Amino acid sequence: MYDNNNIFAKIISGEIPCKEVYQDEKILAFEDVAPAAPTHVLVVPKGEYISFDDFMQNANAEQIAGFFAKTRQIASDLGLVADGYRIVMNHGKNGNQTVPHFHVHILGGKQLGGL
Ligand code: 5GP
Repeated sequence: MYDNNNIFAKIISGEIPCKEVYQDEKILAFEDVAPAAPTHVLVVPKGEYISFDDFMQNANAEQIAGFFAKTRQIASDLGLVADGYRIVMNHGKNGNQTVPHFHVHILGGKQLGGL
């Protein structure tokens, strides 16, 4: 079950502030509070999806394509394409997902090394 009190739900509703990078009616992108790279942005759909797995199973094809196309556009607008960047999506306990609202990490601005 989706937890309406999770921290990203509160950021989407405006209850908790964030450093916004991009927003439209379907998507919000904001800076990670504990950046793991010089650029560390989180992209979230505004819909109530717990994880990557939930999003891929329950969003429709248009929503999925739109979300990932916009994520790519945000990475481009952040100036990350030429030097490269990393996309991370953690799902569930073994993936070490800590916030139960689906999110993509965009990491860049330095050579990130191996996993
Ligand atoms: P996960 O481990 O679930 O993939 O990633 C959650 C991310 O959310 C972490 O990188 C963490 O730093 C970030 N985060 C947690 N709480 C907040 C918050 O209140 N504001 C922002 N901007 N980021 C947060």
